[in-house]
Amino acid sequence: MRRLGWGQALLVGLVLLVLAAALRAAWVGRQAARPEAPEEPQRPPGPLAGMVIVVDPGHGGWDPGAVVDGVKEKELTLQVALLLKEMLEERDAKVILTRSDDSHFSRTVREDLKQRVAMAAEHRADIYLSLHANKDRCNCWGAQTFYQKGGRPEGKILAMAIQNRLRALTETTRYALPGDYFVLRTSQMPATIVEMGFLSNRAERERLQQPEYQRTVARAIAEGVEDYRKQIAEQPGVVPENPADPSPGR
Ligand SMILES: [Zn+2]
Repeated sequence: MRRLGWGQALLVGLVLLVLAAALRAAWVGRQAARPEAPEEPQRPPGPLAGMVIVVDPGHGGWDPGAVVDGVKEKELTLQVALLLKEMLEERDAKVILTRSDDSHFSRTVREDLKQRVAMAAEHRADIYLSLHANKDRCNCWGAQTFYQKGGRPEGKILAMAIQNRLRALTETTRYALPGDYFVLRTSQMPATIVEMGFLSNRAERERLQQPEYQRTVARAIAEGVEDYRKQIAEQPGVVPENPADPSPGR
């Protein structure tokens, strides 16, 4: 290789220096021109912001719940619970599922239920939603909510709010009913049982397996929770009249 003369070496050095300076200037310029990190678009808080909700898909694991023609209650409750979780989260609620797969809490039903209720208490949930599907000898159909007989008024308000949305979005003509159920009786927060429909009714059994209908039921529950929250905030202490179910046993 031919060796560079002093003059040539100096020239190359100068060119390199100028190049480096130019690159640095360009970089600094770009840094300065870079806009501030764009602000997160401000979305107003959803209607359920700040609310903690326990969604309890009834049964699971060894306990299938009602079974008709191979259709298992435990599967339907989980499918709707997963959809409901999504919808409540879209409204900015914090959602805790008592189970998110085909599992149980105990080998005995009572202990299993106890643990579900305890989980809600542990999370200091604002409300407890227990999902079930019904089965009966009658050819009954229609979604229906239950609240604890003689329990706190908020439980009744919650059950009625969800029932109203179920009446609006599904064909049910039922009304929320008082009952005496372990999870309602022992829950430390307003609670409702949503019987999503009757597996013993063929048409309803088929509907309940359709994702679109499951979404409708989930949406009715989510909107009912919204109504409940509004009602509690706007008219605290006011418990609406509950019209008697005009078509019992239908
Ligand atoms: Zn059940």
